[in-house]
Amino acid sequence: MDQQSTRRRLIEATGVGMLGLTAGCVSRWTERDGNGDSSEESESRDSDADGGAETETGQDDTANGAESGEDESENTDDVPSIDGGAVVFVYDDGPIEDYEQAFPVHQEFDAPATAGIVSEWVGREDYNGTDWMALNHLEELADAGWEIASHTTAHTALGAFDLVEDVEPDETRIYPEQRNHGFHHGYEIEITDGNESVRRTVVDSDTDDIGGFLEFDEPVGVSFDADETVERYPDDLMHEFLEESKQDLEGLGFDIDTLLAPYDIVDERTVDIAREYYDGISNVHPGSMHNDPEAFDPFGTNRDYFIEFTTREEVQAELDQVAEQEALGILGAHTFKDDVTAERIRETLEWVDERDLEVVTFREAIGATETLE
Ligand SMILES: [Zn+2]
Repeated sequence: MDQQSTRRRLIEATGVGMLGLTAGCVSRWTERDGNGDSSEESESRDSDADGGAETETGQDDTANGAESGEDESENTDDVPSIDGGAVVFVYDDGPIEDYEQAFPVHQEFDAPATAGIVSEWVGREDYNGTDWMALNHLEELADAGWEIASHTTAHTALGAFDLVEDVEPDETRIYPEQRNHGFHHGYEIEITDGNESVRRTVVDSDTDDIGGFLEFDEPVGVSFDADETVERYPDDLMHEFLEESKQDLEGLGFDIDTLLAPYDIVDERTVDIAREYYDGISNVHPGSMHNDPEAFDPFGTNRDYFIEFTTREEVQAELDQVAEQEALGILGAHTFKDDVTAERIRETLEWVDERDLEVVTFREAIGATETLE
């Protein structure tokens, strides 16, 4: 299948509802979605392997040629100084609003950002309530110094979830603490207590009188004690999500060095696997923007939202602290949300400017902190 028909098929897969994109909590998605109840809906996995094998590598590599072609030997002259404190903006998911609202404002300040892109969503239209940046948009961002980062192939949660109910062999439902792995259907889940391990395909997910559940295609077949059991994507799928998204985006002509984890969900296993493909994860610990450049761990990052879930006063106070301590602030936002406007982004960039904080990409921040050691 060629890329064109793959893309068309993906576009036709609209109407599957939203996937709870924001901050690991589906209920936070409200603005865009007119259906009200669609937070219960999910996406089915494409049956055949559209995993990016058809990605056209012939695409115009010159688009971001200024940055590519220098790979590992990239000299430190290109690494901006973050000595007086710096800020990294990491935008989630790759909606067209990144290009239409965030990008022009960042250009006003000559300030780059990092865009976390879901590789299968590139160029999708009218999906999850908006359009998604296409290749030409991403190329324009990269040309302006933005970093294109991976946000996995399909926005799947990379963590493991404890079970909250015991499982009997004849049951087809399990009840995890969070239902993120129910947002996508057609993927296999591994249920394991460290001893016994079972793989089953998720075919449905909803909430019943016991709680949120994942429904499988067949009974689990084994008993599991909730206290000792987790459900998670098996290793091979984890590698697929992380490796293929990187390969597909690189096939479009971008240097992909870092990962943004869907739903802000990261555990030790996520880090172990991600290390094979990436130089860092920009949102390991949500809730604080503060990172110490001297002791910076690209796989132990703190990122905080700067418009959603916070106030102007809090953000200004946090930026004061970043400036005082000459720290590294990592900020995030979902531009498809109604309150994440160009005006609010501009205001934040003004605060950053007033405090003489450098704005760098996450990749640049990693490079700059390495030179400090
Ligand atoms: Zn996301």
